[in-house]
Amino acid sequence: STFTGLGLDPLVVTHLQTKMSIEKPTAIQRAALPALLSSSEDTSSRDVFIQSQTGSGKTLSFLLPIIQDLLPLSSLSYIDRSIGTLAVIIAPTRELAKQISDVLEALLQMRLRPTDESPDDPSSGPRLTRWLVSGLLTGGSTKTHEKARLRKGVPILVSTPGRLLDHLQNTSSFNVGKCRWLVLDEADRLMELGFEETITGIVKGLDGRQKLAKQAVEEGKSMEVGGWDWDRRRRTILCSATIKEDVQKLAGTTLSNPIVIKG
Ligand code: AMP
Repeated sequence: STFTGLGLDPLVVTHLQTKMSIEKPTAIQRAALPALLSSSEDTSSRDVFIQSQTGSGKTLSFLLPIIQDLLPLSSLSYIDRSIGTLAVIIAPTRELAKQISDVLEALLQMRLRPTDESPDDPSSGPRLTRWLVSGLLTGGSTKTHEKARLRKGVPILVSTPGRLLDHLQNTSSFNVGKCRWLVLDEADRLMELGFEETITGIVKGLDGRQKLAKQAVEEGKSMEVGGWDWDRRRRTILCSATIKEDVQKLAGTTLSNPIVIKG
């Protein structure tokens, strides 16, 4: 099977092939992409548990669906900071967060459809980075600096758990009202490193802020962006190499009726 056959947008497929030398989906990608890209009623807002080893290609299994979900934003003339953060990816260590962020940045370099002025030249298409920017929060820079970046709006955020919880609790301008994705990568290591309570706190923080944001929209205080299902529930993807008891426990508190995918 091919990426196109699994439902990936041809623009993304071309970018993978020509710029990242990624031709054919791996086993875990073949299993995960249909569930995560689906627009059918029964799967389009469900949580997903991905059980697979590092090296299996799991990073793209969650990054590609997030990118594809956010592609419609490129129909807007520009994105203002009121959009805030649309996807949050949590990794257990700084090194892992950096690796995910590097893959994400390579994906965001993709070009969209060429403009009307030069329709036959694919290289004239604007890059997705015009709309979607990623940010890495790992405590590597000062909190003041991170706060300033969050205030400007970071559509896709990759973070270690502690820093993220800190900002959810203390950075009032950190807007997650429209957050559509939460990824918990390497959940077994998150548990080993003692992050269970931090993750629970993050989920509570996101829920609380999203509830307030929704109320603000209903009261007409906040702008809506047209033509998009802003109301769909936040989807959570949990990745783990093992399904030991502690991971099951974390899955129990963070996932609701998940689709389980094994690679
Ligand atoms: P991961 O398991 O996500 O850490 O990926 C392991 C390695 O496999 C990374 O270097 C990826 O760039 C590479 N990779 C992921 N998907 C594919 C694919 N479909 N074809 C070839 N290489 C891939």
